[in-house]
Amino acid sequence: MTDDSRKDARHEAAMKKQKAKVDARIAEADTECGVAVLLTGNGKGKSSSAFGMVMRALGYGQKVGVVQFIKGEQLSGEEIYLRDHCPQATLYQMGTGFTWNTQDRSGDIAAAERTWAQAEAMLSDASIDLVVLDEITYMLAYKYLDEQRVIDAIQSRPPEQSLVVTGRGGGSALQEAMDTVSEVKDIKHAFRAGIKARQGVDY
Ligand code: ATP
Ligand code: MG
Repeated sequence: MTDDSRKDARHEAAMKKQKAKVDARIAEADTECGVAVLLTGNGKGKSSSAFGMVMRALGYGQKVGVVQFIKGEQLSGEEIYLRDHCPQATLYQMGTGFTWNTQDRSGDIAAAERTWAQAEAMLSDASIDLVVLDEITYMLAYKYLDEQRVIDAIQSRPPEQSLVVTGRGGGSALQEAMDTVSEVKDIKHAFRAGIKARQGVDY
């Protein structure tokens, strides 16, 4: 046996073992239901990941509802694309800017409530396969929305409906209510090197 063929045989045996492990785990996961995903942390990639799942769902002809709780001055590419090309997607935006720009607490609370009403309607509509609540964690952090009310609506949504929640923070009760929680870690960001936010990458 040559060195290479010994390596090949070892690789084949290891891969067979790995496949058996993966297959067993796949066979164990036999619950069919919608999944609630929380994408949090200080790094870049939360909302764009949520819109990646929107694309996946739309690819299968699923119906999608997106509610954005904070809206910057800049329209984002995904908003433009969904509006123009995806009749299966409904997009609702809070319509106010960042709370540190508006500096109007009672106005922000009223806007958050209005926006939450849209989210609540989506979370009780079984015809919607995927709901995205983008940046809702800020509404909870500022106590503009009652956390328990949000969690109750998440937990009593139709069993087949999936949900993606994005935003920094997101307390332990919210994490507890979700099936998948990922934290995007900020290692470096172009902005800190003076690079301007880029169309198609940052918005
Ligand atoms: P994205 O929408 O790009 O996935 P995100 O949802 O993870 O980002 P947000 O906190 O919602 O992050 O911020 C959105 C905008 O702020 C994006 O333009 C993003 O590039 C930028 N951003 C995200 N994280 C950072 C950071 N750590 N430092 C500076 N800018 C950031
Ligand atoms: Mg975001």
